[in-house]
Amino acid sequence: MFIFKKESRNAMNNEREDDEFRNNYKKIFKVNLPHMDTVNKVMLIIDNEELEILKIGLVKALIRKKILDKDLLFSGYYKIIVDGTCEMIVKESHCNSCLHRITKNGQIIYFHNVLEAKLVDGRGFCISLLTEWIENKDKEYNKQDCELKAFKRLSDRLKKHYHRMRMCIICDGLYANQTFFNICKEKDWKFIITFRDGNLPSVWDEVNGLKELQQENSYNDKLYIKGHDVYRNYKWINAINYNGFEIDWCECLEKIENKESRFTYISNFNIDIKNILRLVNAGRMRWKIENEGFNTQKNLGYGLEHKYSRVSMQATKNYYQCMQIAHLINQLFELGSLLKSMVSIKTSIKHIWEIILGELRKTLNMEELALLLKCKMQIRFG
Ligand SMILES: [Zn+2]
Repeated sequence: MFIFKKESRNAMNNEREDDEFRNNYKKIFKVNLPHMDTVNKVMLIIDNEELEILKIGLVKALIRKKILDKDLLFSGYYKIIVDGTCEMIVKESHCNSCLHRITKNGQIIYFHNVLEAKLVDGRGFCISLLTEWIENKDKEYNKQDCELKAFKRLSDRLKKHYHRMRMCIICDGLYANQTFFNICKEKDWKFIITFRDGNLPSVWDEVNGLKELQQENSYNDKLYIKGHDVYRNYKWINAINYNGFEIDWCECLEKIENKESRFTYISNFNIDIKNILRLVNAGRMRWKIENEGFNTQKNLGYGLEHKYSRVSMQATKNYYQCMQIAHLINQLFELGSLLKSMVSIKTSIKHIWEIILGELRKTLNMEELALLLKCKMQIRFG
């Protein structure tokens, strides 16, 4: 269902009613295509951890095969973006672990949020390494669960499952706090945080005091991008003390025509003229989890936010993991050289999916397929 981007169990069942589609499925996968009601019965009882373990196994296989190490930060660090999103909005008394908030007009909204650690790179990959649900333990709570509490749990599991992976955690200003710095120190992780004006006032005081004194920590860059002159001014200050932690700060002022933008980050990389450009570039990749991660899963065929199960959170979580696995598999296809050469302004990925589904509704010539599979071919990424 998720590989074919059908967005609902019903839509997948409609495909299943087609005899040719069902036959082709059996020819390729050597198993019967189940009715989605049957699938749902499995989703209701399967342990949530099982599908996540499967996902981790797939990601690790890609890491072992060195598919994901072509765009490492400073030739050594995987860029891991951590961010949360709303998975679904539900009705009151949906389950015992819903989160809730009160809107401006006094209405209570119930929902389920999820925190993701996704591996990203400049070639367009955005792969779920680990998922942590943000949810209350039971109905009788004083304080609700939140993203930062969920991150604590996520970080322990991340270290457990990917203990040898060198990571740079990229996240937003919410994470600019002592608990996060401590976790990164303890786990031996690097970080780049989008630093907002309201975050850590004492660090900002220090920055504003030192900025004028350390004029040598500055670099000007002029580029020509898509027909526009782009001016960038970089500034950095290292080793600002914050409750015993050494924080490195940097800023990039960008001017394109008359439009000015400002990008500010704090990190635990010692910043210098040799690494500032790549560091800011990595920090700016934070939007990728929103765009290539959540938006793709919400709007491009995966149906994140769709209620695959209305009654069971266990099933919901299992569907969500299947979605992450399918998105991973589809990215390997969509970002590979085989397909990339076919995608253009006129031919979108959506159109190619329609062609594939169309082929599966006709009789597949298995001899032809077998011949094709015998040919050696190389799929490159990037
Ligand atoms: Zn609920």
